[in-house]
Amino acid sequence: MNFYVDFDDCLCETAKAFTMIAGRLFGKNVPYEDVRFFDLQKSFSLSDEEYIQLMEEGHRPEVLLSYEETPGACDTIRDWLCKGHEVNVITGRPYSAYDASRKWLDEHGLSGVKLFCLNKYGRDSFYQAGEHNLELEDFYRMHFDIAVEDSPMALPYLEHFPGVKVMVVDRPWNRGCDFPSSNYIRCMDWDVIRECVRYI
Ligand SMILES: [Mg+2]
Repeated sequence: MNFYVDFDDCLCETAKAFTMIAGRLFGKNVPYEDVRFFDLQKSFSLSDEEYIQLMEEGHRPEVLLSYEETPGACDTIRDWLCKGHEVNVITGRPYSAYDASRKWLDEHGLSGVKLFCLNKYGRDSFYQAGEHNLELEDFYRMHFDIAVEDSPMALPYLEHFPGVKVMVVDRPWNRGCDFPSSNYIRCMDWDVIRECVRYI
């Protein structure tokens, strides 16, 4: 089977790290459970300038490398790889974050997964054609059986893959979102994801 796995808040605890950064840089103390919007500018009530600064800080290589693994993510994926499945990590991070993101995966025993930067949110102004870069049209030519995603904004893209089963990682910012079909399953953690996949 072919897997699509998102990076931030699926493989690692990015939003938790961003709550710390927002506190450190701007004195904004928003607990993780109160991050109700995928748009962190809105969740942390930041000005445009502060938001840019937050994103720059959160995408520095040493900061990217420090993100904590979401419990069970890497073990589960290694297990899928051992069973001969193909795992593609498709991140909305900008391409400038590619090297550090690749290193994080390698350091967590995931050198067997492919990594692509997909311009999911129109954020990446430095998009260049390249083997690790995807625009939506490149992405739609791929094939996936199972997806793991947390972002309400990315879920509609997955509608382009008929029959794909989408494991939606439960996060405060996706609790209010309606799923497009019964192919979408809310998963509280990676144990649940692993079990769901076992029965597909
Ligand atoms: Mg994500």
